Amino acid sequence: MPYPKPTRRSWAEPWKVKVVEPIRMTTREYREKCIAEAGYNTFLLRSEDVYIDLLTDSGTSAMSDNQWAGMMLGDEAYAGSRNFYHLWEAVTEYYGYQYVVPTHQGRGAEHIISQIMIKEGDYVPGNMYFTTTRLHQELAGGTFVDVIIDEAHDPANEHPFKGDVDLDKLQKLIDEVGADKIPYVAVAGTVNMAGGQPQSMANMRALRRLCDQHHIPIVLDATRAVENAYFIQQREAGYRDKKIAEILKEYCSYTDSCTMSAKKDTLVNIGGWLATNDEGLFEEARNMVVVYEGLHTYGGLAGRDMEAMARGIVESVDDDHIRARVGQVEYLGQHLIDWGVPVVRPIGGHAVFLDARAIYEHIPQDQFPAQALAADLYIDSGVRSMERGVVSAGRDPKTGDHRYPKLELVRLTIPRRVYTQAHMDVVAESALEVYEKREQARGLRFVYEPKYLRFFQARFERV
Ligand SMILES: *Cc1c(COP(=O)(O)O)cnc(C)c1O
Repeated sequence: MPYPKPTRRSWAEPWKVKVVEPIRMTTREYREKCIAEAGYNTFLLRSEDVYIDLLTDSGTSAMSDNQWAGMMLGDEAYAGSRNFYHLWEAVTEYYGYQYVVPTHQGRGAEHIISQIMIKEGDYVPGNMYFTTTRLHQELAGGTFVDVIIDEAHDPANEHPFKGDVDLDKLQKLIDEVGADKIPYVAVAGTVNMAGGQPQSMANMRALRRLCDQHHIPIVLDATRAVENAYFIQQREAGYRDKKIAEILKEYCSYTDSCTMSAKKDTLVNIGGWLATNDEGLFEEARNMVVVYEGLHTYGGLAGRDMEAMARGIVESVDDDHIRARVGQVEYLGQHLIDWGVPVVRPIGGHAVFLDARAIYEHIPQDQFPAQALAADLYIDSGVRSMERGVVSAGRDPKTGDHRYPKLELVRLTIPRRVYTQAHMDVVAESALEVYEKREQARGLRFVYEPKYLRFFQARFERV
């Protein structure tokens, strides 16, 4: 019998492997011991005990030979490193902002911009929160207000741009508190906490118009803006024939400033920046970075790190790269959809999100179903994921109660250029196995709860 002719033409990654890092498969008994010792928190596992690590795509991507070559060209002068100028040129060319301040990672930039722009009693609207972003807004005296469209809170809703800002919600906030109490609108390109969901160009343009009427600046969280550009290219009328680089630049052009975690889109292990078109803000940020990060021409980074970022920016906007990156996430997600495992739809840009509320229906939210699901997935196969639900949402600073988000998710985050399609098959099969055994699952309770960003270091036991 000849092989049947394939019914489709496959595509493959636009790279080949040059260096390999061995990973280790362990036994179920061993993993049960590991996760109990880690307090049922996947952040507290040793990476050696993990088989396929989908905890985060932050700083976990594989650099290219070109980036590694750039590392050898690090100019480690304290001031005025040539790599700083390369980074500056890459940010201004591809993101379009005029001024750049490097920071050690995204939260370094968030800290600085929050301290400069937010005053006690201000309100900062955003298209859903991100953990570090909101915390820095709160530490600066601001109150975060979620103005994302309602569809974003519904994991089954197939809206193509669930990251869109609800302009009516924003208008209502402006009417209630006044534009002078709103230092800026914080928008994220592909909203991590909503499941990696994009914002449309049309929505960004409309947001710009509304903000112009009230003289409110827009600060972009550009961490995943390249992935956002890919979804615009694929889903929004008029962008099919445009290059990712062109779409990215247009998207950023509607905003005044950005913060960036280069550990994501930019394909480096560490780094970030703050960029702006506002000269006054730049002067202040350039001054403040000296206090918290380092001189304004290195911001807590080595020269070689800035070179890797400069080269990573160029690689990140390559159309073939981003198609393969998001394509791999879709490959995993489509398997789970086909097998009936509840996931956030549509599949996002950087991760597949298991709907823990639907999978562990019998576990009440105050027993942390997503935290329990992440632990059970690890026990099944050594795949490490993370909770994005009530534990990540933290407590309300005013009432002290848990914040109960509508989305109770487990995130399977795919590092860029690291794992193969076969790894994705293993992950999908394990998620199915855990789903099929869902009735045996039990919830968790806190034995230790840190004050800030509790999901990183919290410890639990089974109820
Ligand atoms: C990771 C991330 C941040 C924070 O950046 P760090 O580099 O981890 O400090 C901010 N916003 C978004 C959307 C992120 O994904």
